[in-house]
Amino acid sequence: MTITASDDHARRARLHAITVGRLVVAAGLALYLATLGHDLVDPAGRELLAIAAIAHLSLNALVLVTVRPGSLRLATEITTVVDAAAIAIVVAVTGGVASPLAWLFLLEAVAVTLVFGWGGGVRAAVVLALGVLWVNAVPPPALPQAVDATQPLDPSLALALDPTLRTAWLLIGLLGVTGLVGVLSDLAERDLRRWLDDLNMLREVTRELDPRRGMDRVCEALAATMVEQLDYRGAVVWVMRDLRLHAVATAGAAGLGDLELAVPLSPATQPVLYCAETGAPALLRRSDARPETLQRAHGAEAPLVLLPLFADSRLLALISAEVPRPVLRRPSLRGADIRRLQMVAEEAALLLDNARLQSDLRELATTDGLTGLPNHRYLQQRLGEEVARVTRNAEEGELGPLSVALFDLDHFKAINDSYGHPTGDAVLVAVSRAADDLLRSSDVVCRYGGEEFALVLVDTGADEAVRACQRLAERIRSLRLQAEDGRELGTITASFGVATTLGGALDRPQLIAGADRALYAAKRAGRDRVVHLDRLDERGQDEALVVPVPEVETDLRSRGGRR
Ligand code: GH3
Ligand code: MG
Ligand code: MG
Repeated sequence: MTITASDDHARRARLHAITVGRLVVAAGLALYLATLGHDLVDPAGRELLAIAAIAHLSLNALVLVTVRPGSLRLATEITTVVDAAAIAIVVAVTGGVASPLAWLFLLEAVAVTLVFGWGGGVRAAVVLALGVLWVNAVPPPALPQAVDATQPLDPSLALALDPTLRTAWLLIGLLGVTGLVGVLSDLAERDLRRWLDDLNMLREVTRELDPRRGMDRVCEALAATMVEQLDYRGAVVWVMRDLRLHAVATAGAAGLGDLELAVPLSPATQPVLYCAETGAPALLRRSDARPETLQRAHGAEAPLVLLPLFADSRLLALISAEVPRPVLRRPSLRGADIRRLQMVAEEAALLLDNARLQSDLRELATTDGLTGLPNHRYLQQRLGEEVARVTRNAEEGELGPLSVALFDLDHFKAINDSYGHPTGDAVLVAVSRAADDLLRSSDVVCRYGGEEFALVLVDTGADEAVRACQRLAERIRSLRLQAEDGRELGTITASFGVATTLGGALDRPQLIAGADRALYAAKRAGRDRVVHLDRLDERGQDEALVVPVPEVETDLRSRGGRR
C-alpha cells in the first residue's frame, strides 16, 4: 500500500471544513446586516437576501447529506457555484460592486484555493469572476446613504466609486489571491508530498531489509535499495568487524575488500574517518582523495556519498554510493537528500543490528561454549537436513550414502579425577580441534555432550566412514598433552560407533540410535576401536569387532570405568 494525501477521506474532510467556514461567515454576515450594516439593504433587498440565505443553506445541506464518496468532486463544484451565487446576491443588494461586502468574493477564492488547491481555486475564481460581472451588470439599489446627486463629487471619490474600475479591481484581486494562495499551498503540499514519498520509500526499505534473513542478506538488500529506491548508480555496504570495514554486499559497483579506519590520518582515509566519527553523511567529489579500496569499488573519480550506520553510538556499517552526475551543476548534498539518507541510515542500522543480534543468538544456541563446536541441537537439525537430502536424491534415482559416527573418550573420568577438570576441559578442546582439522570441510563435527562427539559424514559409505574414524582415532592417540601442573597425560583413546544409511533408508533417530549401539558395542569389546552398526548386526552384538585400533596400553586404561 502507498500512503497518499488526496483520498476520498481527505476530500470529504475538506468539504466539511469549508462548509463549517461558510456557515460561520453566513451567520456573521446575518448578524452584521441586522445590526451595523442595517442601512446597507433596502426592504426589497432584505427579502431577496432572506430567500438567497435559505436557498444557500438548504442547497449546501442537501449536497452534504446526499454526497457519496464517488461524487465528492461534483459536490465540491456544486457548493462552490452555490456559494458564488449567494455572495453575488449579497453584494448586489448591499450596493453592487461598490458594496463594502465585495471582499466576500476574495474571501471565497482564498478559502477554496487553500482547501482544494490550485485546480479547485482556479475553477472557483472563474465562477466568482462571473458573479462579479453579473453584479456589475445589474443596477445597484438606491441605498439610504447613497451619495447626494445634487452635490458636485470630489474627483478622487468619483474615481473610487467608478463601477467599472471597481469591477476591474475585483477581478484582478480574484486573480491575484487565487494565484498567491495557490502557489503558497502548492509549496506546502509539495513539501508534504516529499515527506510522503520519503515515508513510502522507508516502508519499502523496511520491507526489503528483513532481519530474519541474516546479516549478509540484509546488506545485499540494503545495497540494492540504495540503487533501486534512492537512485544511486552503485552501492557497497561495508560492515564493521575487528576495527575494519569489510565490503559485504554490492549493487551495481565492482570490487570488494576492506576499508581501513586506522590512524594516522591521510587525505585518502580522512573522509571515512570523518563519517565514522561524526555519524553524518559525507560527499566525496570527483577530485577528492579516497582510499584505494573505495577507488577499486567505485572508480577513482565517481562522486560518492558515504553514509555511516550507527547503533548505540557504535559504527555498525558504512554505505558508499555513487551519486548520479547532475548535468549542469556540481554534485551536492542538499537538505532533502541528507534527510532521506539519514532516514534510511537510522532504519537500516536498526534492522542490521537486529539481524546481527539474531545471528549471534542463533550461533549461541547452536554452539558449544567450551569447544566452539556445533552442539547437540545443531547436530539434530543438520542431520535432519542431510537425511532429507539423501532421501530426496534417492527419490530422483540417485542412491547416495550418509554416515554418522559417535565417539566417546575412554576413561575420561579418570583424567578429571587424576588431573582436575580444567585439564579435562583442555583435553576436550584438543580433541575437538583434532577432529575439526582432520575431517573434510563438508563433514560436520559436533559435541554431542560430555566427552562424546558426533560426526556427520556426508556422501560417505560405511567403509570410508570407518576409515575416517580410524584416522581420527589415530590422531587422538597421537595427541601429546600436559596437565595444568605440567605432568604428561598418557595416550588418549576413544571408542567409535558408526551407522550408515543408503538413500535415507534409516531416518535421523535410527541413525543416531544405530551409531550409539555400535559405540556401546565398541566399549564392551574393550574400547579404543571403531565398530560399524552393519557388522554388528551381521555378527551379533557381543562379537561386534569391526576395526580395532592397534592396542596400546595406556596408564588410563587400567583405571577402568564404564561409559
Ligand atoms: P568410558 O570409557 O566408559 O567412556 O569411561 P568414562 O570415564 O569416559 O565415562 P564416564 O561416563 O564414567 O565419565 C564421563 C566423565 O566426563 C564424567 C564427567 O565428569 C566428564 N565430563 C563431562 N563433561 C565434561 C566437561 O565439559 N569437562 C570435563 N572436564 N569433564 C566432563
Ligand atoms: Mg567416556
Ligand atoms: Mg560418555
